[in-house]
Amino acid sequence: MKKITDNIYVESEFSRCNNSYVVTKDGVVVIDTPMVPANAKKMAEEAAKFGTVRYIINGEPHTDHVAGNCYYGGTVVSHEGTRRMMQEADVAAFKEQLQRLAPGGLPVDNDFHYRLPEITFSDTLTLYLGDHTFRLIHLPGHTPYNIAVYVPEERAVFTSDNVNLGMPIFFNAVPDKWLDSLKRLEELDVDIVVPGHGEVCGKEAFSQMSIKLKDWVNAVSDAISRGLNVKETIAAIKRDKRFADLPQQGPDPEFLNTNVRRLYEIFKN
Ligand SMILES: [Zn+2]
Repeated sequence: MKKITDNIYVESEFSRCNNSYVVTKDGVVVIDTPMVPANAKKMAEEAAKFGTVRYIINGEPHTDHVAGNCYYGGTVVSHEGTRRMMQEADVAAFKEQLQRLAPGGLPVDNDFHYRLPEITFSDTLTLYLGDHTFRLIHLPGHTPYNIAVYVPEERAVFTSDNVNLGMPIFFNAVPDKWLDSLKRLEELDVDIVVPGHGEVCGKEAFSQMSIKLKDWVNAVSDAISRGLNVKETIAAIKRDKRFADLPQQGPDPEFLNTNVRRLYEIFKN
């Protein structure tokens, strides 16, 4: 757990995605919860040392941002689409996902369940707690339901996977909206950007992310216009020097194939 400001703590080592909390005078706000139940329990205990957990904000519907909800108190808040996707999630699929992405997290206790958000919104929602403001802004991109959590008093924004310092993940993405959302993030008056994955960074991350998205979109669109099929497109991307840092090991190479399949589907017509 890293202390980023007097009030912001971020864990980048757990369960794939960043898990954060903001400490206010009137309690703690958690942003994204760990996928591995043991990590979620540990983090919930840590957060409680700083006060009562009042709100848990899920920045997107993917399991690695929401599965730990059931181990916290407080009220869960998300975009309404995130709640809908969580309603469809099931525990058997969760176990299979842990097996693939974080096998150390198994077995799953019987107390695990998908804890659904109690408050949802569609465009924006502002929470006030202690001296802090949490502006929740719908920013579709990595999924149609991603949100940013902007905390002006800390000059910080939590982006979930709309900013990801590794490979962008497209399997539920809306690429054109994603680029617009990155422009809207640029307009925020912040110094601290907490991405969905990777170390805490600054505003430069938004333009870097836009470049990465455009590279993917252009590469797949080019391949389609050259008449390549999905398999050939995957091979072409692996050879392309713009993608020299793609993951070669672990579960992540499979995300590369999924990315290509998704973008191919979107741009083939
Ligand atoms: Zn995600």
